[in-house]
Amino acid sequence: MPTVIAGDVHSNLEALRAVLAHAEALGPVDAVWCPGDIVGYGPDPSAVLGELRARRLTAVAGNHDLAACGRMDTDDFNAAAARAAEWTAARLSFAEVDFLHSLPMTAVRGDFTIVHGSLREPVWEYLLSDEDALAQFERQATPYSIVGHSHLPFWIEEEPAGGTPRFRGPNDGTRVELGKRRLIINPGSVGQPRDADPRASYVLYDDQAATLTWHRVEYDVEETQRKMRLAGLDAWLIERLSAGL
Ligand code: ZN
Repeated sequence: MPTVIAGDVHSNLEALRAVLAHAEALGPVDAVWCPGDIVGYGPDPSAVLGELRARRLTAVAGNHDLAACGRMDTDDFNAAAARAAEWTAARLSFAEVDFLHSLPMTAVRGDFTIVHGSLREPVWEYLLSDEDALAQFERQATPYSIVGHSHLPFWIEEEPAGGTPRFRGPNDGTRVELGKRRLIINPGSVGQPRDADPRASYVLYDDQAATLTWHRVEYDVEETQRKMRLAGLDAWLIERLSAGL
């Protein structure tokens, strides 16, 4: 049965619910894999954790998850992100903090290794360059790896004999067949897209057909922004959701 690959959810309940409803309308969903940053930035950390944990969830730690549960200090965060991390930490139950504490840096499910940043630097590295991609393939023990962190949807095909890896940008509905080459996959961000498209981004993995399909889903951005204003979160974090930047 299909698996939803949904990362960088960032406490955005409207976006997560829209993604899950979209996937579940296409057919039964077996599991959800999350390459980190469940919380941080958005107004609904507990509800987002609840929605994800109500499913068969495999998640790894993102930098915002570690900051919210006290496993990482926020010295390296920008001011708005640090304030959002403190705001999030103050709202989590002990059980939710424990759950974030328990998240591994990497997880393997079948042919996929899941990590937030990269296998070289699991929490902090933005995998964006050819050199980053080569370093990832060197460390990748499974045919496919899933990353997040940059909030940019892409896939990278390994070239034979150490050739330059090819970055490719998916559109809504782009389908990639598995089995030809090793891949690095970024599903994009559910809760704070940064590729100038404000729609939530995720990937549906169909294990029967051996395909990955990127989807973009509209959600009630204004409702999320209304809650963020009520919560007193930074204006910059609120406004960027409209532009997807
Ligand atoms: Zn993130």
